[in-house]
Amino acid sequence: MCYQCEQSNSRGESPNLNLCRSKRSFLRLAVASAVSFGMLRAGMLSADESMPVQTPRASSPKPENVLTPDQALERLMQGNERYVSGKSKPLDFHDIQSTLAGGQNPYATILGCSDSRVSPEHCFDEAHGDLFVARGAGNYLTNDNIATIEYSVAVLNTPLVMVLGHESCGAVKAAVDAVDNHRDFPGHIQLMASAIAPSVRAVNDRSSSRVMNITRMNVIMTVERLRTKSPILDYYHDHKKIRIVGGIYHLNTGKVELVA
Ligand SMILES: [Zn+2]
Repeated sequence: MCYQCEQSNSRGESPNLNLCRSKRSFLRLAVASAVSFGMLRAGMLSADESMPVQTPRASSPKPENVLTPDQALERLMQGNERYVSGKSKPLDFHDIQSTLAGGQNPYATILGCSDSRVSPEHCFDEAHGDLFVARGAGNYLTNDNIATIEYSVAVLNTPLVMVLGHESCGAVKAAVDAVDNHRDFPGHIQLMASAIAPSVRAVNDRSSSRVMNITRMNVIMTVERLRTKSPILDYYHDHKKIRIVGGIYHLNTGKVELVA
């Protein structure tokens, strides 16, 4: 069952059967939709196979961003090493502004927390046009950020997706409070706590490392959901067109630790 149908069932609604028929029919629908939005052109989606495929573009705004999934991960982690060691490159927006006005080809997509202390562009020492970023408190999966990530992969040809959690995450702590103390947060905040609650329940730990272990679990479970709940991302992952990984940002050092 797809993520959207699972969400529908959790609300007691009927699943969208059109999305559940098969991965292939879903992808055909995705391509058809993309055509209607004018996305079917060089380097975007292929109508020939009724499947979204990544193809080389005639030209890329940033040629150095055309990478394999492994190369993309290596570059991302090297950028983090520069950041940690205080050797970040100076940014000069004026060098690339006219190039990026004509298009973008980011080499990595980040699903990260909204926390003001964890800015992906800073912690990976990258510039405008390099990272496609979706952020929300707790970096958990929603239909909206699945759409963002599918767009980055199927339309922008991004070869790498990273779910990025971090040390001392307030959203994770809220989820722990909700599970442990049956805390009911006001407004929409409860949605955030409820979304992370499965990670809290999955960690059988009462040590001082519990919140950190739950943070890791939240990243690992989100990576797994991206692989299994999005037919588009599953297709690209199965065909080794993308890698989906998980990382934890450590506040004291700036180091990103790969956990998935
Ligand atoms: Zn956070």
